Amino acid sequence: MTQAHIPGYPRIGAGRALKTALEGYWNGTLPAESLVAAAQQLRLAHWEKQAATLGCLTVGDFSLYDHVLDHALLWGAVPARFGVEGEPGLAEYFALARGNAHQPALEMTKWFDTNYHYLVPELSPHQAFSLHPQALLAQVEEARRFGRPLKVVLLGPVSFLYLSKAPGGDRLQGLDSLVRCYDALLALLAQHQVEWVQMDEPILAFELAPHWQAAFERAYGALGKHRPPVLLTTYFGDVSHHIDLITRLPVEGVHLDLVRAPQQQAAWLEALPAHWVLSAGIVDGRNVWRLPLDTACRQLQGLRDKLGERLWIATSCSLLHVPVTLAEETGLDAELRTWLAFADEKLEELRVLAAALTQGPEAESAAFAAARQALLSRRLSPRVHDRAVKDRLLTLPQTGTRRPRPFAERRALQQARLQLPLLPTTTIGSFPQTTEIRAQRAAFRRGTLTAEAYQAAIRAEVARTVREQEVLGLDVLVHGEAERNDMVEFFGEQLKGYAFTREGWVQSYGSRCVKPPVIFGDVSRPHPMTVDMARYAQSLTSRPMKGMLTGPVTLLQWSFVRDDQPRETTALQLALAVRDEVMDLQAAGIAIIQIDEPALREGLPLAQGAWAEYLGWAVRAFQLSVSGVRDDTQIHTHMCYAEFNDILPAIAAMDADVITIETSRSQMALLEAFGTFAYPNDIGPGVYDIHAPRIPAASEMDTLMQRALAVIPAERLWVNPDCGLKTRRWEEVRPALARLVETARGLRVALQEETQDIV
Ligand code: GLN
Ligand code: ZN
Repeated sequence: MTQAHIPGYPRIGAGRALKTALEGYWNGTLPAESLVAAAQQLRLAHWEKQAATLGCLTVGDFSLYDHVLDHALLWGAVPARFGVEGEPGLAEYFALARGNAHQPALEMTKWFDTNYHYLVPELSPHQAFSLHPQALLAQVEEARRFGRPLKVVLLGPVSFLYLSKAPGGDRLQGLDSLVRCYDALLALLAQHQVEWVQMDEPILAFELAPHWQAAFERAYGALGKHRPPVLLTTYFGDVSHHIDLITRLPVEGVHLDLVRAPQQQAAWLEALPAHWVLSAGIVDGRNVWRLPLDTACRQLQGLRDKLGERLWIATSCSLLHVPVTLAEETGLDAELRTWLAFADEKLEELRVLAAALTQGPEAESAAFAAARQALLSRRLSPRVHDRAVKDRLLTLPQTGTRRPRPFAERRALQQARLQLPLLPTTTIGSFPQTTEIRAQRAAFRRGTLTAEAYQAAIRAEVARTVREQEVLGLDVLVHGEAERNDMVEFFGEQLKGYAFTREGWVQSYGSRCVKPPVIFGDVSRPHPMTVDMARYAQSLTSRPMKGMLTGPVTLLQWSFVRDDQPRETTALQLALAVRDEVMDLQAAGIAIIQIDEPALREGLPLAQGAWAEYLGWAVRAFQLSVSGVRDDTQIHTHMCYAEFNDILPAIAAMDADVITIETSRSQMALLEAFGTFAYPNDIGPGVYDIHAPRIPAASEMDTLMQRALAVIPAERLWVNPDCGLKTRRWEEVRPALARLVETARGLRVALQEETQDIV
């Protein structure tokens, strides 16, 4: 029988059970024992599903908050600043995850190119590790009751260190100490009769510096003999550039992501050591599409003929990145629903594949027929294929999507139209989403508030937001985005080719989940999406009002994207839809249009060798969405959540007239890169960190602006917060923005005096 397994199962639970339990515990309504019991129930439920479909159960993939944090505790890497003595309990665990009255939380950052965020282990310069295996061993015992082989998943030692930070030290410094802990744990797992260990080393998808490559040989070479066999697990990219390195390691098998990187299969068949298992990650763990069973089965039969029992089958990566079950999606269009597979449906696909490989596809003929039917309907459906959209894309110029006039000339025309002062002030778009607004939206969705009443409430909020900004003295205003629940959902709901699930939640971090929409068909914009609102907001003020849109790359990146055409094609379709909106905003008299691209960097492939190709079409998509405008229409973009130093040429090629970026947390370090690179257009570095519930002093903002002025000429600088204000309260936003305006005014006076002194 071909072994089927999954690198991990979603832990948030159907109906977001873990979220409910966690938040109950945090707000004091759920006792600790109940949280622990809820977590155990979830694990048992997840194993039960695996027991019903797969050969073996995966243990260690569950986490109360984050699996990287769990590993920090497993290896005793609790930063001294938390003052934890003895074994950390729940309170200490969540203090690391979320901070407490005395200490900020561990830093959080994106897990590779996913929308999941992990907590960054914080290592001391001379970090020594120690083993704390009780929690994991208890889960092994829990899973034993199913009487199935167990595979324990661990984040491998080299990836663990790579993903950590060691301020003032070298992350690899503690490698030997860490490997001794892994070795001791593996020995314990052997004693507990664990059949396999899945060692995740996802950093192998990167091109690694020589010392990181050497760390692999050193770490794995030091593992002892008394241990379960190890399946070295890779995902999210091609790892064949490390094939020599990997095949030299003393492990017993390798897992490959054959969805993201099918091209590596041939090289691996060639190089696979004779006794190794090859786990073929053939079911997409990152996306929601149903597997074409026929093709998959044929591919696996080929592999099985060569490898026999050494072939395993699996999802490409952990199912953490897809929703739990389609069972709740009764609201979805019935045909569309047959095209999808969430985590539970993917388990079933693996079961069918394993059975077909053993007994022949005839044994599962009903499943094969259903998959075939779904594939056919998807391939031919008029819901998916829109001739007009495809034709429009075909007639696009291959080059020349950039605005024809150079920035300097556009700038003069825009300034003549807008008459902005030196160092203009603005915000990023959203203003506080008040409880009243949320309540109105909920009532509207429930049907207890009429569309007219809801619209009136939104307009009242917009009017108030405009008034507040006028009183504050901001130069370029926004309408505040009160009508938007989410910057992708709002547009997706109005675009053709998009679908929304009811319970399609995916963990983003801790108890936070997102519900990415599904792009299933050719995308187009049947009607204007923001024009009425922008026109209304502009009618309330004589100052310029920014039109606010989400850019094509972010719409793509934060959705489940169709897999039946290149991502680039979908991005360009989105770009055309955004372009239609841009042109309508311009026609409605809006002089400034902002197109947010906070997710631009997230889309970067893990291997740098593939960056240029991605950036090429991502930049082209942005250009395409804005390049139809007049020279005196000012285009802004906004980016955040990331470092941009290494993609500055691409950002410059986007050629937005103004970019606003998150900079205050890094104390403007990012801006120095913009200065060194000689970024040519206007920049608004964020001087107000909106992620923290505190109101910065005017002097702090002034210091940040002084740093900005040292690298960018005043004529090209704007003054604005880091990001949208929707998570903040008016009581914080009002004084913070007052100080921001005051800072800009103070600087204007000082700069004018300086020029007069020179004259
Ligand atoms: N315009 C959006 C807002 O202000 C931008 C959000 C973002 O960058 N993530 O909320
Ligand atoms: Zn932002």
